[in-house]
Amino acid sequence: MSSQRSVESHSNRAKPGATGYGNYINGATSSGMNPNSGGTSLSNGQVTSAAAAILMAAPVDPDENGNCPDGYKKNLATGKCDPICTGGKYYNTSKKICECPEGMVEDATGKCVIDPCNQIKRLVQNDSLGSNILPIVNQLRNKLGTDNNEWSIGYKNKWINGTRKNVPNDNGIQEGISKERSLFKYGNTWVGQIHTHPQGTYSIFSWLDIRAIKILHTDSHNHFNDEVFLMAVASNNITYTLKVNNIQTLIVKIDADMQNAKGSNDREKREYLMLEMAEKYEKSTNLEQTFLSLFGNYGVSLYKATDTNLNNWKQLELDENNNEIVTKTPCN
Ligand SMILES: [Zn+2]
Repeated sequence: MSSQRSVESHSNRAKPGATGYGNYINGATSSGMNPNSGGTSLSNGQVTSAAAAILMAAPVDPDENGNCPDGYKKNLATGKCDPICTGGKYYNTSKKICECPEGMVEDATGKCVIDPCNQIKRLVQNDSLGSNILPIVNQLRNKLGTDNNEWSIGYKNKWINGTRKNVPNDNGIQEGISKERSLFKYGNTWVGQIHTHPQGTYSIFSWLDIRAIKILHTDSHNHFNDEVFLMAVASNNITYTLKVNNIQTLIVKIDADMQNAKGSNDREKREYLMLEMAEKYEKSTNLEQTFLSLFGNYGVSLYKATDTNLNNWKQLELDENNNEIVTKTPCN
């Protein structure tokens, strides 16, 4: 079974013209793969501070006095001690809190997942585990001219020398079919894509980009779900990465958008959604804030490179107390 299918993606036109946003996704088919990923399983290597951590896996028996150990509470129905930590978290006996193992963070559902910051950094690394994306990003940066079409490249997860890593499509960067449309591969081992947002288009991600990462995530094999990423390369060395933090939320949001959009078929609905978005982008004085206020609750996280070589990244979020303000949290 071929896992390579293409779908047209990503319009970020600054000013919708006569052609509108139609026809972006042609012939998209469901892969039949179940997007529901199971719990996070931890390998021994991920448990680094074992002395202070107790793996919260299953209920344990109380001691002879009927007391439960730290990090457990008595279940009156079963008489056993149930772990108080969930989602793959450990009980830190010195801090007396549940926390994720090193290199992992709690996602929006309370589950420990690999820190997206680490995954983004690994894309940049040029060692045996990294994907060495900088030379590719620089190739894409040379395709940002006003008259250039969108350019892109897909990434797949592959066995290399006994380890799995994300590698670029052998074909290299590919020219899109217009200045706001390009193809992306999805299904099974395809985990990511990097594309340009040429001059004259918005630098930030579009609604179709968010839909694209949903497709990448749901159609990739469960083993690689956490690897899924979408990256946009724009002028002035602006580089954004999008990651999924809650696929169920993302599916619900995209489906609801399609349900509520005007239009008599999916193509018209997508066009409507992109026009609606573009109106807001056009009025915006702060595209990052506008993106986050529109899509910040879609189950996706937004990251921005803070240097040309992509060594440092920040996560952008709306300030909890003032959603006009974008907070920028450095990746460690
Ligand atoms: Zn895009």
